[in-house]
Amino acid sequence: MEMGSGIASILDKKALDRDDIIALLQCGEDEAPLLYRRAAAVRDHYVGSHVYLRGLIEYSNICRKNCLYCGVRRDNLRIERYTMTREEVLEAAMTAFNLKLGSIAIQSGENSSGAFIDTIEELISTIRRMTDNKLGITLSLGEQSRETYRRWYDAGAHRYLLRIETSNQSLYRKLHPDDEMHRYQRRLECLKAIQDTGYQTGTGVMIGLPYQTMGDLADDIIFMRDFDIDMCGMGPYIEHSDTPLGERGTDHRLLKERFSLSLRMIAILRIVMRDINIVASTAMQTIDPAGREKAVSCGANVVMPNLTPARYREGYRIYEGKPGYNEVNESNVSGLNPDLIPGITIGLGIWGDTPHYGRRLGRKK
Ligand code: SF4
Repeated sequence: MEMGSGIASILDKKALDRDDIIALLQCGEDEAPLLYRRAAAVRDHYVGSHVYLRGLIEYSNICRKNCLYCGVRRDNLRIERYTMTREEVLEAAMTAFNLKLGSIAIQSGENSSGAFIDTIEELISTIRRMTDNKLGITLSLGEQSRETYRRWYDAGAHRYLLRIETSNQSLYRKLHPDDEMHRYQRRLECLKAIQDTGYQTGTGVMIGLPYQTMGDLADDIIFMRDFDIDMCGMGPYIEHSDTPLGERGTDHRLLKERFSLSLRMIAILRIVMRDINIVASTAMQTIDPAGREKAVSCGANVVMPNLTPARYREGYRIYEGKPGYNEVNESNVSGLNPDLIPGITIGLGIWGDTPHYGRRLGRKK
């Protein structure tokens, strides 16, 4: 058999089924470059050879939840809790605007107090006003009520990322406390509410979790396809030693495996969903300094330069080893090494919306 012909016949299919996805996830290192090249070509054809930027603002690490894998979880007493001031958020947003990042992403631990909801609403409308409606706003603020999603949407946010973490319900239960605040069903309902409100809707999963199988990962891809998401932010699971799931520390051999599995997940999702936005995550960079560039070479098209003030970075370590340095500067706002991604241009001063969103709305009419 000619080298690579095993996956070549799968890649030539019009639609991939679950077995095809599992075969691609398990393909040999000699075959993987063919998968990656195909995914990059699909990206170039359907969304263009650009990388869009989202200036990341990690607003607060105060969280009411206790996810078993996350360093920001409520019961982790080893981190200092913070909330950025209004002025700091507005300054970070203006930095994004002036550096032509095109969009920001406001992320936070989960909080549904009235004060939090009001503050976010006010920040969104102020940022829109200050930038003459020219700065795109993505939110990643967890599970909220339909009314809250609507208020933030009406204030001017237009994309929302809520990661499902895994589409396998029993695995989800292993990753979260068994209580009303951490139900898979609730997560799903929130994702639906976000989509119904009109946001460009994003989700994502962790790759290489304990107990996770190749079948689970294939099901994650199928879940994202069937949910008809517009954006995806996924990456390798990285242990945090101050969490129940990560207290035994990290096996670096496993991290390498999760990294290469993550590249395959990105490439396969690109081939399956073609015109969505896919993030080259910071978690990829944590394992491999060129991780984000490698993800872009496999079909990703969004990066999120961190605009959180340096003094808060330590407090937002969801997983261990997360890069904390200031990576945004005027000469290279993306922080990417252009030599590693020839032919890719950085989309400056544009929102970088996904064409998938418009087509999804068109299909609904
Ligand atoms: S994953 Fe999100 S909701 Fe869960 S503990 Fe971490 S910040 Fe809170």
